[in-house]
Amino acid sequence: MTYIGRFAPSPTGPLHAGSLVAALASWLDARAHNGQWLVRMEDVDTPRCIPGADQTILQQLKLCGLVSDAPVMYQSQRNEAYQTALDTLIAKDWAYPCGCSRKEIEDTQAQLGHTRERHTAAVYPGTCRDGLNGKAPRAWRLNVQRVIDDLQLPTPMTWQDRLLGDQRQDVPHEVGDFVLRRADGLWAYQLAVVVDDAAQGITHIVRGEDLTDNTARQIVLQRALGLPTPSYMHTPLVLGENGEKLSKQNGAQALDLANPLQALNQAAQALGLPATPAHTPMVQALTVWIDAWGAAQ
Ligand code: GLU
Repeated sequence: MTYIGRFAPSPTGPLHAGSLVAALASWLDARAHNGQWLVRMEDVDTPRCIPGADQTILQQLKLCGLVSDAPVMYQSQRNEAYQTALDTLIAKDWAYPCGCSRKEIEDTQAQLGHTRERHTAAVYPGTCRDGLNGKAPRAWRLNVQRVIDDLQLPTPMTWQDRLLGDQRQDVPHEVGDFVLRRADGLWAYQLAVVVDDAAQGITHIVRGEDLTDNTARQIVLQRALGLPTPSYMHTPLVLGENGEKLSKQNGAQALDLANPLQALNQAAQALGLPATPAHTPMVQALTVWIDAWGAAQ
C-alpha cells in the first residue's frame, strides 16, 4: 500500500506537549505502515506566525527523532496553487465574493435569532450568495449547497474516522458557506490544507481531535476540486490543568526538550502506548512504539 502521511504545524510558536502528540502519532502511523512522513509548515496566517518558529519546530522534532522524509513544504510559497484552485471553483460557479464584515454577519445572525456558542464561527447567513448588492468584495466563499447539489454529495456528509468511527456533519447548516480567501487577502486554512494534501499525495491524515470538525468541509472541497479524500484519524488532545485543550493561544508551555525521551514518553502515554524506562535509547523507544502502534491497528 502507498502511504504518505504528514504533520502540518502552524509556526505560531514552538511545539507544546499537545502538538508533539499529533507529530508522534502521525510519524508512528507512517512508520507502522512503512510509509513516508512529511512535514508541512502551515504559515498562511502570516499575522499569527512567529519568525523563526518553523526552525524551532523542526529542531524540536529532530531532537525527538522525527525528521521529514522530503523537503519541508511552506504554504507561504504556494500562492499560485491556491489561486488556481480558487479559479477552478469560480469557473464552476461554486465560489462567490462576499462583502460582509464580521459585524454584519453577526448582526444578521442575531436578527435571525441565532446565538453562537463559544469557540464556534458564526454560520454565514448567505447574504452575498446571490450578489454583492453594491458592496465591495472582501472574501471569497464556497457555495456549499450548490456544490452538494451539482455533485449529488450526501447530506449530511458522512465519513469514517479510524479512531472515532462514524462521523457526520450537515455542512450547509452547521458550517455554511465557509471562507476560501479571507477579507485580508490571506488564504483560508481549509483551501490551503486541501490543495496541499493533494499536491503532496497525502493518503493518511493523523492529527489532533480539535480538527475533527473541519473534516467534512475539507471533503466537500476535495470533491469540488476533483481531489482524492485521504483516510482520517484524529488523536486525543492533551488537556491542561484547567481542563482546556493545550494550545499556544492559551499559553501552553513550549516543550522542554532537555530530555527528549521524557517528552516523547508523555506523548506516547497520551496515545495509550507503553512507557519506556528512562535511559532507553531513543531509537529503541521509537521502535517499541512503532510495533505497539502497528499491533493496535
Ligand atoms: N496547521 C494546522 C494546525 O496547526 C493543522 C492542520 C492539519 O493537520 O490539518 O492547527
